[in-house]
Amino acid sequence: MNQQLTVREAYLEASSFLNKTKNQNTQDPSQVCRWMLEALFEWKHNDFFLRWNEPFPMDKSEQWQDMLNRKTAGEPVQYIIGSQEFYGYNFKVTPSVLIPRPETEILVEKMMQECRHIWQHGEPIIADVGTGSGIIPTTLAINNPSWKFIAIDISDQALHIAKENALAHEVKEQIEFVQGDLLEPLIESKREIDVLISNPPYIPSKDMQELQTEVKDFEPSNALDGGTDGLYFYEKMIKQISELSKIPKVVGFEVGQGQTKEVAAWLKQLNQWNEVYIVDDLAGIGRHVLAIRGEL
Ligand code: GLN
Repeated sequence: MNQQLTVREAYLEASSFLNKTKNQNTQDPSQVCRWMLEALFEWKHNDFFLRWNEPFPMDKSEQWQDMLNRKTAGEPVQYIIGSQEFYGYNFKVTPSVLIPRPETEILVEKMMQECRHIWQHGEPIIADVGTGSGIIPTTLAINNPSWKFIAIDISDQALHIAKENALAHEVKEQIEFVQGDLLEPLIESKREIDVLISNPPYIPSKDMQELQTEVKDFEPSNALDGGTDGLYFYEKMIKQISELSKIPKVVGFEVGQGQTKEVAAWLKQLNQWNEVYIVDDLAGIGRHVLAIRGEL
């Protein structure tokens, strides 16, 4: 890199370079370069335009080149900078966990509303199955300091990240972390839960190869692959609900496109709910299925 470059010039040069290699990348090059530079210099959001006329520090150029190479190879920017914002909070992410998606914020919001309505007094115990980076329990815990959580994941590495995130947001005391397969640890220990939340893997196996490079080659396939029809984990969890010591009062699942009907139908077959309803994402696609037992 030319010694005379300012941060702004490096930014423009890198954005235009990434634009040319866009075949591997669906993420917006300018946005990506801004995030990478902010991470590289540990700048706050407002620093970018305030400080971009500063000379590009030479001792950072190797690291910058490395970031650009990773991005050119199609790696999601979130893994390169090691974080993703969710619900206004910063979460650490590594290739061991799925990158949080914005539609999951709607699930968190809806579950929060339902639970606050039901538990105006007392506090629910909420299990998040397949917690990944732990965004769901951490976000709910920050906003509801008296609620308790059990975060379950089959991946030890994911649980490790989830713990770090809970610790960083000072809610680790509210969350118990359990390694295990879906609801199995709850059934085995006869633990009672009031609420079940899950955003499990839901991509049909045959569609895995068609995902964009950033997802297919970099995000953990065990956080994406939902079996033959993509519905494996819902079917299994819904069966397991009746094996729990107590039927939860609220269940909320995030689902893939076109999966609401089956998931809602399976839940209804349990005959336990006052109401089963669908919540759309911002694109108007049915994304979440909620089942409420309410005050029974
Ligand atoms: N619960 C995490 C999330 O919503 C992880 C989901 C997953 O790995 N399928 O991001």
